Amino acid sequence: TGKQCSDPYDCPFVSFCKTQESPEPQHPIELLPDSAGKALARTLREGKGYTSILEPAPEELVGKAAALYARMQDAHRGGRAILEPGAREVLRRFGYPRYYFDFEGIDLPVPRWIGVRPYEHVPFQWSCHIEREPGVLAHAEFLDLSGEDPSLRCIDAMSLAIDPDDGGPIFVYHAPYERGRLEQLADRRPDHAELLQRYIDRLVDLLPLVKENFYDPRMRGSFSIKKVLPVIADDLRYDELDEVQEGTGAQVAYLKAIFDRPDPGRMADLDRKLRLYCRQDTWAMVEIVYFLGQCARPARPVEDEVRHIRGGRAWSSLDRVRRGSMAIADDRWFEQVPPPLRRGVAR
Ligand code: SF4
Repeated sequence: TGKQCSDPYDCPFVSFCKTQESPEPQHPIELLPDSAGKALARTLREGKGYTSILEPAPEELVGKAAALYARMQDAHRGGRAILEPGAREVLRRFGYPRYYFDFEGIDLPVPRWIGVRPYEHVPFQWSCHIEREPGVLAHAEFLDLSGEDPSLRCIDAMSLAIDPDDGGPIFVYHAPYERGRLEQLADRRPDHAELLQRYIDRLVDLLPLVKENFYDPRMRGSFSIKKVLPVIADDLRYDELDEVQEGTGAQVAYLKAIFDRPDPGRMADLDRKLRLYCRQDTWAMVEIVYFLGQCARPARPVEDEVRHIRGGRAWSSLDRVRRGSMAIADDRWFEQVPPPLRRGVAR
């Protein structure tokens, strides 16, 4: 069976034809990743009749990603994960503080805000784990469910959490997405373009580092952070998150919040689920860096190190660490600080 069985119409013989197919191999050759890997798999299947990634000879696994294909073949053949030592050396070159950062964005076909193009991704949320020195982690985050253009608040909150001047690496997973969002924000907010360019210049993409150094057969040919995390930290799973488990789920939750304007209880529920999801993404990056660096797993920051920067101007606890005091410049946000934490807060 194939594409012709359902396109343009469903064929009535599908159930019979499926019974005639030989069972798929346990390690199908289509596990080879990305468009180049899929093209190679098609060539090898059609030209050589290979159905399994175990079948090609080493010299047949060709292309720019030949080393990756060979590592995948070794891992599937041996039924074990392979971690190259090279990543450790690469990571050791980065200093501190280190930032682990992720955006969530919405791309509406009919823009809701002035200056936004159709399908332009506008970040409405970010999460950032911050490692000031090895093993000392804190967290900052931003989420705007007001339904207004979140761009300016997003930039303001970033400038509070990520010191523009400390030069620390900003780790992301699949940098084109974060780079694209920062560039578009700079286009629409040219008065912040210099700040955003400084962040762009500090982006470090973890995805190619993982691809070049690690593979576990349980990843089934995918280097998505959602596939990598469970194999390096089996207590952390995206499918155990409630309602928001991936980027599309985050977009749906955001749309429910801004278009449906549900009751406060449901809004708080969506707010919490979005935060947990995005926080998991950046914590996954921390776990990945520690794993690639062959370090013991890090301890998550305690909950009271987490500050929500929803909008307005709010200095986070991270700034208190950085500046030696904590200041909140907007009374609205001061009201959100639990009373036990208000001591020592300068306004
Ligand atoms: S006859 Fe079988 S293989 Fe051909 S289109 Fe129908 S289901 Fe697909």
